[in-house]
Amino acid sequence: MDAKLESPGARNKRAPGTSTPVMEQYVRMKATYRDSILFFRMGDFYEMFYEDAKLASKVLGLTLTSRGRIRGEAVPLAGIPWHAADGYIAKLLKCGYKVAVCEQLEKPSPGKKLVKRDVVEVITPGTVLSDNLLDEKESVFLASIFPSDERYGIAIADVATGDFMAGETDVSKINDELSRFSIREVLLPEEFSSSPEIPRITGKSSRTFIDGKSFDYERAKRLLKEQLSQGDLHAFGCDDLRDGIRAAGALIHYLRELKRSDLSHFDSLKRLTESSSMFLDETTLRNLEILKSPYQGGRSLAGVLDRTLTPMGSRTLRAFLVRPLLETREIVERHDAVEELVTDSLLRGRLRDFMKSLKDTERFVGKLAFDRINPNELFLMGETLKVIPEIRLLLENRSSALLRDIELKLGDHSEYAALLSAALVPNPPMTLSEGGIIREGFNKELDELRMSSKNAKHAIAELERKEREITGVPNLRIGYNRVFGYYFEVTKSNLKKVPEYFERKQTLTGLERFTTEELRKFESQVLGAEEKANSLEIEGFERLKEEGKAKIHSLKLSANALAQLDALASLAEVAAENSYARPSVDASNRIEIEEGRHPVVEKTLPRGEFVPNDTTLDSSSTQIAIVTGPNMAGKSTYLRQVGLIIVMAQAGSFVPAKKASIGVVDRIFTRVGSSDEITTGRSTFMVEMNEMASITRNATGKSLILLDEIGRGTSTFDGMSLAWAITEFLHGDEGFAPRTLFATHYQELTELPSLLPRVVNLNVVVKEWGDELVFIRKIEEGASDRSYGIQVAKLAGLPGRIVERAKEVLRELEREGAMRKKAMAPKDAALELQLFDEKESELIRELERLDTDEMTPIDALNALARLRKEYGKKE
Ligand code: ADP
Repeated sequence: MDAKLESPGARNKRAPGTSTPVMEQYVRMKATYRDSILFFRMGDFYEMFYEDAKLASKVLGLTLTSRGRIRGEAVPLAGIPWHAADGYIAKLLKCGYKVAVCEQLEKPSPGKKLVKRDVVEVITPGTVLSDNLLDEKESVFLASIFPSDERYGIAIADVATGDFMAGETDVSKINDELSRFSIREVLLPEEFSSSPEIPRITGKSSRTFIDGKSFDYERAKRLLKEQLSQGDLHAFGCDDLRDGIRAAGALIHYLRELKRSDLSHFDSLKRLTESSSMFLDETTLRNLEILKSPYQGGRSLAGVLDRTLTPMGSRTLRAFLVRPLLETREIVERHDAVEELVTDSLLRGRLRDFMKSLKDTERFVGKLAFDRINPNELFLMGETLKVIPEIRLLLENRSSALLRDIELKLGDHSEYAALLSAALVPNPPMTLSEGGIIREGFNKELDELRMSSKNAKHAIAELERKEREITGVPNLRIGYNRVFGYYFEVTKSNLKKVPEYFERKQTLTGLERFTTEELRKFESQVLGAEEKANSLEIEGFERLKEEGKAKIHSLKLSANALAQLDALASLAEVAAENSYARPSVDASNRIEIEEGRHPVVEKTLPRGEFVPNDTTLDSSSTQIAIVTGPNMAGKSTYLRQVGLIIVMAQAGSFVPAKKASIGVVDRIFTRVGSSDEITTGRSTFMVEMNEMASITRNATGKSLILLDEIGRGTSTFDGMSLAWAITEFLHGDEGFAPRTLFATHYQELTELPSLLPRVVNLNVVVKEWGDELVFIRKIEEGASDRSYGIQVAKLAGLPGRIVERAKEVLRELEREGAMRKKAMAPKDAALELQLFDEKESELIRELERLDTDEMTPIDALNALARLRKEYGKKE
């Protein structure tokens, strides 16, 4: 269309080599959006020019062409069809780029040389809103950081839903704090753009440096008060966060600039405290496979627990899992709600039936606030609101406080819902441009205009029939296109028959187009009515949005409540299906699990085949359990099972066990397997020791530590010594005794319980059947006596000759090993070693004192006998 109007043809009429109006328009626009890739709409395409074109062709694999020459230079060009834009934008965002979308703001029409255009949206990795660009199950967070001397100000927001938090954190903890959320983009003051600290802080997230003035305290505070409509920030418990306020203010400023809207759903600010939720760092999330399994087709914890029926419920459930609670009261509240939904299966079933029809209201509310909602989405939001009264009815007078709270928060939106269904046609189109959004009977004037346009179209059809008769042209037809409007079309062979009053409009190969006075009359009737109808529809839609925006706060509450309800009902559904038990939680330092199961592994086995196991960990008695047993016996599964049960319990879920009582854990640390980080260039051993360093530095007396083999990446002695020393360290004292499970191959570590009072041995039982091994998967107290490595290797299919030879070598090594064992005991053994060392040096001194030049052979022999008697080994 207008791509044609502004086509190279148009350009050719100008002096060769000079810029065209449209290119001038492009250059002006690009100057404002320098750090974004500018998608410049031209008809059915988004075009990119110059550097953007080169970059896009590289990143997106587009063909790089050129759009003529300006001042002798070819203008690089790459384009994509508008309807495929989302896929390309998603790819650019993933690579950390921003995209500024420039649209045509008016329809091209005959005679118009340059169409009005403007950037309607800048999409950045942390601020995307479009459904097609967002994973519906994953929340996307934008962070803003104000680096101060020791503590950093930090703000985090989910732009799609308006969740907004601010806090302050130690420099050393900033990474941990950010890794609790899936942060896609980090805002920082421009002054820090070359700071060497930045890559460490932002990790893989994309970085955006903004004017340092946005972080000005007074300015930020003013902006926040205005945004949150509050006289002071006391109401949010955030007034003392100087640097947090700077970060939060800058974030709001950035969003306002970007989205050019008032962000009405950003109406509350939560304080982000370091102790607000259990800490699961990236390593632990990965090791426990909480959100994703690293294996293709493998299931994660979320995979098992997520039976939600709406995308917003799914996101909420995932948030429960990555940020489990710490407050006993809050945990118990969730358990109460889940219990009520487990017990009352009728209630659960009916609630879930309603959930099936709900849409992603949470994101719709966000879009409404940003003025990005389309007619179809607004309609779907109305459909969800219609269901709310029925859900409220089901939740009335429930005994769980949380369910009662949800019932209240759902609120009453029936009036707005009724307005939406009266105003909008069912399933209206996604775009406004074609009209057909407002229902018949809603607006009288609109109905009349539609009628008049319909009548005129009728008349045009009639006219076609009439003129065909008069002119005797059998294939005379009336056509329409956007640029030329209505016309009669006559093929060349019939041109002779065309009467005088036909006015020529356009000549094409093989045919000519004409108009008549009568046709023009009907045409203007149709077009006039349609144009007016269209603007009435737009006006009506605007009014519907305004009504919604006025209620944005309660709509948001209501959407959050629905999301929570869906997540809780999903937990209940899974609990009922898999016979989970309600855990009890308290502030003690004890963990007691009776017949615990691994929630994911048990699903991979036929029902009832998973062997349950007990666990008791207690900071004051059985604090550290050394778990031994052959490979494949089930050690890792056991360790992870304990970690997952804790996560589930504190997330508010029931747990796969007969009974469980959990003393709240503040953080789970895991050191599991050999997570090679080849890409970061760190060796397995280095990664392992880095992780251990972080554990020893950050664990508290309330933490749970799961260690699965440490020291493997180095020599046996080094590894064993490190494992030994780490266990001694973790054994700690009164104030620091983190509950620990330590699976190891080092048989020597099973000596530790005799030396350290709070260490116990556990082993996974295996039975030997002749030369064969049978895995029982049962954990029992005591150390395993051997590692059975050779039997396991045989099971794995290693050739018999190798297995036999390995047995021989093992026997030899075991003989030598007996001697080595002594040296492994901790302090007493060290004393013995020390004594031995002193004896040795005394002997050397004696030897030095002997004057061999003066000695006879007999003297020498006597001296040797004496030394041997004094220092020699006593058999
Ligand atoms: P290890 O860490 O001792 O080498 P794993 O924990 O990896 O052993 O367990 C090996 C396999 O044994 C697992 O993949 C799982 O299928 C099975 N397994 C582990 N624990 C159990 C159990 N309690 N009941 C049934 N099967 C189990």
